[in-house]
Amino acid sequence: MPAPASSSLAAQPYWWDEAPLPRVPGTDLPRNVDVAVIGGGYAGLSAALTLARAGRSVALFDRQRMGEGASTRNGGMTSGSIRPSLAELGRNFGEARAVAIVKEGKTAREDLYRFLDEEKIACDFHLSGLFKGALNAADYEALAREAEERRRLLGVDSVMVPRSEQHTYIGTDFYRGGSVRFDIGGLHPAKFLNGLLERVLAAGAGVHELTTVEKVERAAHGFTLSTSRGTLQARDLLVCTNGYADGADPWLRRRIVPVRSRIIVTEELTPEQMARAMPKRMMHVDSRKLSYYYRPSPDGRRILFGGRDGTTTGDPHEPTDHLRAELERIFPELAGIGLSHSWFGHVAMHRHMIPRIFVHGGIHYATGFCGSGVVWARWTARKAALKLLGDASEPPSAFEFEPPPAIPLYNGYPWFIPLAFAVYAAQDRRAMKKGERAA
Ligand SMILES: Cc1cc2nc3c(=O)[nH]c(=O)nc-3n(C[C@H](O)[C@H](O)[C@H](O)COP(=O)(O)OP(=O)(O)OC[C@H]3O[C@@H](n4cnc5c(N)ncnc54)[C@H](O)[C@@H]3O)c2cc1C
Repeated sequence: MPAPASSSLAAQPYWWDEAPLPRVPGTDLPRNVDVAVIGGGYAGLSAALTLARAGRSVALFDRQRMGEGASTRNGGMTSGSIRPSLAELGRNFGEARAVAIVKEGKTAREDLYRFLDEEKIACDFHLSGLFKGALNAADYEALAREAEERRRLLGVDSVMVPRSEQHTYIGTDFYRGGSVRFDIGGLHPAKFLNGLLERVLAAGAGVHELTTVEKVERAAHGFTLSTSRGTLQARDLLVCTNGYADGADPWLRRRIVPVRSRIIVTEELTPEQMARAMPKRMMHVDSRKLSYYYRPSPDGRRILFGGRDGTTTGDPHEPTDHLRAELERIFPELAGIGLSHSWFGHVAMHRHMIPRIFVHGGIHYATGFCGSGVVWARWTARKAALKLLGDASEPPSAFEFEPPPAIPLYNGYPWFIPLAFAVYAAQDRRAMKKGERAA
């Protein structure tokens, strides 16, 4: 059966079908606030919640609707991953800092689970576990070393799954085995966003959707913000714009690269197809440079399959076709399956590839989540807000650093992405060939 043309797919996130973007009742812009927060995703909402509950007057701005950036477009995996290895972190930041960074990942993930539970946020969270597939024997060894490191440093147990047993976890022969960890799960990103927003509104923060912060200037007692709806004074400012940082902050834009990530969704599969493809209903990723991530929908009827997109303008159909081909490569049984949705959002990459909390020119920032913000955005923005409050009751974050360095020859348009993708794709092809030769 021929696959349907990608142009017939919904270009909006699957998540919005059940949890549409919230509409926040409009309120007048205040003339003065204690703290202004720019960006209405997980980070901005988490910061606003912390600040409002501490008694500060807060104005939270998003130029789109709340959550319309990456925070209702993502895969909902609570990965909280750190891209560089422990060894790389050690080389860059020293061994003690490297260990602190890795340990904070565990704390942040557990803090999210506690938060969802205590706040009773109904967002289909399920601690399902995560399978990571290896492309070849060397990858498998590397996953085993990672698993051992997790056990030693964090006390987190993982299971190594040889290729001969991988059908217990995933219905594919594509991988050369993999690892399973049980401390990562999945949630419904848009329901999580809505839950956060409800609590921010209840805490009394001013929430201003469809309001662009166009310019920020230093003032005698803080900052003057020029917005599309007027001007206000804020004593402090926290920027949480991540992959959507725009011309309002050219300094930040030279440091953060917006990279498109895309997700396609299958039509409903039969229970038997789902049981063969994802017998444990886990989250899945693989060890490729251009890694793919995939999961069952919360109702267990569809597969959501995501990966980096590689385009920088328009909404061409090639990235959807490419994801479909990768889905079919992993699950040949699904060849020709109908798709219902295909959408993209921006993740924020930078030269150090770890989440960042920093202060520049008196402005606080929580940003640079490198495609892993379900855990990190909420956590680091809360930490940044506590720092702004001068709250010393919690230890400082290991992610408090100097700002990421500017990227040479870059001012916000990521012209180099197609080139970088071609290099990574070639590396992945070589790694896969190695796996095929050894099989
Ligand atoms: C397709 C996709 C899949 C992903 N999958 C996962 C996953 O499975 N697990 C995971 O952990 N992470 C995942 N991520 C990453 C995760 O979604 C992000 O890291 C996280 O949502 C970032 O949250 P944030 O609040 O920092 O930024 P965002 O939610 O992106 O919010 C930033 C907001 O800033 C606003 N803004 C920018 N400039 C201005 C301005 N001048 N004035 C007013 N507002 C402004 C934008 O409108 C935007 O809404 C994925 C991302 C994408 C796109």
